[in-house]
Amino acid sequence: MTAEWIAEELVPVEDRDAAPGAPIRLAASRCSSCGRCSFPATGTCTWCGAPGFEPMPLSHGTAVAATAVLHQTPGAVVEVPFVVALARFGQAGLDVLGRGPGAADPTAVPAGTALRVVAESLPDGRMHYAFAVGWLAAGDRIGIGLGP
Ligand SMILES: [Zn+2]
Repeated sequence: MTAEWIAEELVPVEDRDAAPGAPIRLAASRCSSCGRCSFPATGTCTWCGAPGFEPMPLSHGTAVAATAVLHQTPGAVVEVPFVVALARFGQAGLDVLGRGPGAADPTAVPAGTALRVVAESLPDGRMHYAFAVGWLAAGDRIGIGLGP
């Protein structure tokens, strides 16, 4: 049986049986008209409004673009403080916000740190995606744009 996800539309259905900590993908889409990507996947392009799209799962080739520590979050399921990371998926031109690796120390994951998307089991038993420090696969290109 598939676990309950906080926002199941963010993860492809075939990845929703993943064990906590296992690599998963995010359900993004690429517009058939303009080629831009959207996350979460939408039936209508958020950029140009065209209706056609194809799934573009995001799993690798991402790195930290920025981090912040959240000390208060209304209705939080996870104990504060925790690190959120803005992960840049260079191949899709998308930045995705998610719970980051580490407890509450953003210096542990400086900009450019390679990440992977993993399943996370929350204290209330539901599942969500999170970022873990990952490794780059051959051919991955990180386009952070912080350097020259
Ligand atoms: Zn479009």
